[in-house]
Amino acid sequence: MGRVIAVANQKGGVGKTTTCINLAASLVAAKRHVLVVDLDPQGNATTGSGIDKLDLEYSVLDVLTGQASLVDAMHYSEQCGYQLLPANRDLTAAEVVLLDVPQRESRLKDALAPVRGNYDYILIDCPPSLNMLTVNALVAADSVLIPMQCEYYALEGLTDLIGSIQRITESLNPQLEIEGILRTMHDPRLSLAMDVSEQLKEHFGDLLFNTLIPRNVRLAEAPSHGMAVLGYDKQSKGALAYLALAGELGRRQRERQRSQKQ
Ligand code: ADP
Ligand code: MG
Repeated sequence: MGRVIAVANQKGGVGKTTTCINLAASLVAAKRHVLVVDLDPQGNATTGSGIDKLDLEYSVLDVLTGQASLVDAMHYSEQCGYQLLPANRDLTAAEVVLLDVPQRESRLKDALAPVRGNYDYILIDCPPSLNMLTVNALVAADSVLIPMQCEYYALEGLTDLIGSIQRITESLNPQLEIEGILRTMHDPRLSLAMDVSEQLKEHFGDLLFNTLIPRNVRLAEAPSHGMAVLGYDKQSKGALAYLALAGELGRRQRERQRSQKQ
């Protein structure tokens, strides 16, 4: 059964979409079957995977409202090697449209249920807010991966985010785990980034991924070519970092499974 991971942080610009696309492509490089769900009306994961968000017959909104099946709405990203459930601006209406729909918090979970067995990983790119879309992602997910920049207010924001996740999921998805906290756009030359990084380690211990994603211009350039960085420049530091993250994710999962068996 595929592991469903929501990539979430209510802050914008922290590297959620970059992480979704590049972690997904790195998992594909490791021969995993991956589905990416774009759940942000900005549709950046869609465009960044080389799919034209203005030319969609169906989008994730149609799947959430039951107008289309997941299989009908899915696209294969040639450039990235994964399946994508795309999004565009239509998704802005989701909050209102879902008001009239029964079980509105679990629409995504229900839509994914029949295809979960086809994938090793399903990654959900969340919007930068804690709205009904993010709630759908957190209800559908086994775990949440939190990308964050090592900034001064990061720790405060993170504690708030984890608190909100706990409140949202207490009644709706008590099984939800924290997959890990990922430090993104890291610049080791900034002493502040190093300080915050140390604080995070003290505070969150094992929840922190060892892999650091460096600030790397190739990661910022790749989406405008509709590619993951692995396709765009596979030798770049960004590409190597996301490959390492895919490796660490798998290792942590195997360790968890071993300790659950004991
Ligand atoms: P979010 O989805 O959280 O809003 P994005 O992944 O879109 O964040 O990243 C915000 C901006 O920063 C984008 O322009 C992206 O290309 C750039 N970016 C993300 N990660 C990196 C990185 N490690 N190095 C350089 N630029 C990055
Ligand atoms: Mg985004």
